[in-house]
Amino acid sequence: MEIIKAEQTNNSTIWNQLNSMGHEQVVFCHDEATGLKAIIAIHNTILGPALGGTRLWNYATEEEALTDVLRLSRGMTYKAAATGLNLGGGKAVIIGTPSMKTEPFLRRFGKFIDSLGGKYVTAEDVNMKTRDIEYMAMETKHVTGRPESQGGSGDPSPVTAYGTYMGMKAMAKKAYGSESLEGKRILVQGVGQVGMYLAEHLKKENAKIFIADIDDEKLKHVASKTGAEIIDNNKILDLSMDIYSPCALGAILNDETIPRLTCDIVAGAANNQLKDDIKHGYKLMDRNILYAPDFVINAGGLINVYLEHINEYSKERSYQMADKIYDSCLAIANRSEEQKISPQEAAMEVAQDRIDAIGKIKVRR
Ligand code: NAD
Repeated sequence: MEIIKAEQTNNSTIWNQLNSMGHEQVVFCHDEATGLKAIIAIHNTILGPALGGTRLWNYATEEEALTDVLRLSRGMTYKAAATGLNLGGGKAVIIGTPSMKTEPFLRRFGKFIDSLGGKYVTAEDVNMKTRDIEYMAMETKHVTGRPESQGGSGDPSPVTAYGTYMGMKAMAKKAYGSESLEGKRILVQGVGQVGMYLAEHLKKENAKIFIADIDDEKLKHVASKTGAEIIDNNKILDLSMDIYSPCALGAILNDETIPRLTCDIVAGAANNQLKDDIKHGYKLMDRNILYAPDFVINAGGLINVYLEHINEYSKERSYQMADKIYDSCLAIANRSEEQKISPQEAAMEVAQDRIDAIGKIKVRR
């Protein structure tokens, strides 16, 4: 009796979570032979198939993995909708370590993706390499973001960085009346794939660039290429800056960091920057800091894989579409001001409005 009660409690927690976040389908994948344990979350498919990468992470608990995949997949819905793409939102997480990624393990996961018949389309994410995706692709065609050498769209990071740069310029236009970043003190936290390309765009604009990371080699490399000044990663909150660009971690905007931030704008590529979408969106607003919602400003990478997915990829088209991130960010900042809501909420409304409107025309005959 006790066991049944415990199961019922757990189930109702999962259903409550799905209900409150609006998910359509969540698939738990298990294969004893290969040790595969994964969750595929399909948040919304009104605009198109649920596209989102597969992340491999050694989650401490199953609940943590579920929460992550539910949050990330919902973020993909918003990102695609706010960017005007005909895509829904989905994401997959595999629970484990990189050493588990054998050929049968990955192909088994490919089979699970295939069983969804194209409702979910995967791509690379944290701890997944091109070779891993190739194994999955042996079992399913519902994979995108392949290397250029295989006719795919290749590394999306340069386009993500370009879109972030355009979004940052739009925020500067809103906050300062000019989109120029010349002389602006800009901190890029995380100089990995995206942060490195972003710093190069900022150098061309003659911004005063600061960089922080936990990887000294990357810091040295980017500093030598861009002339950026290296800041101790533990002291970034002591730096007085105009623009803070988080390009490393999620949940970096929280109760501890927001009161200490000295900047006018937050505009970076990291996913899920706000620890709490609503509370921290408003905390930034209270401090008069203009925030570029992450799922809008970092949509360049999704644009890149989307074009490959619909067989219309060209570098030129991808950059043309990423240019429009400027307009999307500015429109959201204006809507936030007019409606006196946080930019995060304004962006969520833009995304939801499009989903609702397209959902209505789809049922009409
Ligand atoms: P990456 O792994 O290449 O770079 C991340 C960098 O952050 C690394 O240099 C790493 O050393 C650094 N880092 C890790 N922990 C840190 C910490 N505690 N403090 C400071 N630096 C830290 O990743 P990326 O592809 O450049 O992506 C950066 C962010 O942008 C991620 O949040 C990612 O989810 C998001 N994003 C990336 C893309 C893309 O196209 N690559 C698209 C959309 C969103």
